[in-house]
Amino acid sequence: MDTELNPLQKAVIEALGVPADWEPLPEDIVHSIESQLENELAPLKGLFTAEEPLRINKHHIATVHGCEKYHVLNRQSQFAWNINTVRGTIAHKGIELLLNWRGPIIPSEIVDAAITSVAENPRESASDFIISLPAHELAELRGAVVGAVSNFLECFPPVKPQWRPMVEYSASYSLFDKSVLFTSRMDLVLGGPGRKVIIDLKTGRLTPTHRDDLRFYALIETLRSRQAPRSLGSYSLDSARLDSEDVTEGLLQSAVRRTAQGTLLIADLALKTREPEVRPGFQCRWCPANDTCAQGIQYLRQLSGDDEDAD
Ligand code: SF4
Repeated sequence: MDTELNPLQKAVIEALGVPADWEPLPEDIVHSIESQLENELAPLKGLFTAEEPLRINKHHIATVHGCEKYHVLNRQSQFAWNINTVRGTIAHKGIELLLNWRGPIIPSEIVDAAITSVAENPRESASDFIISLPAHELAELRGAVVGAVSNFLECFPPVKPQWRPMVEYSASYSLFDKSVLFTSRMDLVLGGPGRKVIIDLKTGRLTPTHRDDLRFYALIETLRSRQAPRSLGSYSLDSARLDSEDVTEGLLQSAVRRTAQGTLLIADLALKTREPEVRPGFQCRWCPANDTCAQGIQYLRQLSGDDEDAD
């Protein structure tokens, strides 16, 4: 029997529910966006191979449209875990367990199980980082994730099995004999083929790039499954806020343009046909070159107001 939903849960249902007049996008849209992507990326034919493909994910596209040098540095460096990034991983694992949990729902128990599951899985790259955490940092991590999982329980409607929830859903698509490979991993997907709702669960603030990330997912899912998803949503676990939009032909076309432009830029940088452009922005705050890059140093000074303070 359905339990009474609170106002926040009702708001999510209203935003993501199927409108009475909803119609799936026509099938020929799949062919038209596929041709558009192929045409725009035609200059890459023969430049990469299936053995060493040009790999593209949402993060690559987002960073190359920001500072190209930052993009190159990021691709060269080994990913290093920190408390913030591992918080998102454990929160996602907690929600995955929550959706399949049998027995009483106690957030702290689910989070403990999530931490254990990630820490004890040798295939999880975060496992060594978690094991190395001192007790006080582990307690901080646990507390933060318990907060996120509790928020999800309180503010997101209970996910019904008939919504066919899939957590950490991977989709990929390739072009030109698998030499250009697009990959995606979606946090939560609800609904059956042709009417999927793709949800990104965020542990931090929602930013404009979240919409671009989801549009990239919508594009890859459309090309892979040959059916467009119905709707997209970024859900902030901290603020219990949902930002959603319907998938339209215009949305998919804009995702193709942004993905194609980004992929061409990434190919240039991978092939070293030119020097990366330097474009200061918010990413300077966590860029590994922010103590040597003159533009980044100046930008960060301006951001913190140092320039105004100087005599
Ligand atoms: S510090 Fe900023 S401008 Fe400089 S390379 Fe890094 S992201 Fe780009």
